[in-house]
Amino acid sequence: MAEAMSSTRNGPLCPICNETLKVPRTLTCLHTFCQHCLSKYIQDSDCSLVGKPSFNCPVCCRPTYPPAAESKQPKEWASLFPQKTALLVLLGEDKAKVDFFVILVRLKNIQL
Ligand SMILES: [Zn+2]
Ligand SMILES: [Zn+2]
Repeated sequence: MAEAMSSTRNGPLCPICNETLKVPRTLTCLHTFCQHCLSKYIQDSDCSLVGKPSFNCPVCCRPTYPPAAESKQPKEWASLFPQKTALLVLLGEDKAKVDFFVILVRLKNIQL
């Protein structure tokens, strides 16, 4: 696993600010953003406050539903997503592994 260690040396980049992730938050589609960038994006985007709270992922545009967002303001939504774990960083480049891991997490309801 030596190559995995060296490839994460500078950390993954945030697709919004193109800098190393600060307080990384991972959406259900597994795209990861700085909490600050995600929060700004959500507030700037046309997120629905009617019905189930949601916004579209800035990268893949998949509808994303913040966990337990009903009682929160959109500016707080970013902090509701799990912080990216070291394990996810490691798996990050391999889509098949990530998909498998997501299924595992959903089945076992693990808190990331
Ligand atoms: Zn960022
Ligand atoms: Zn996405």
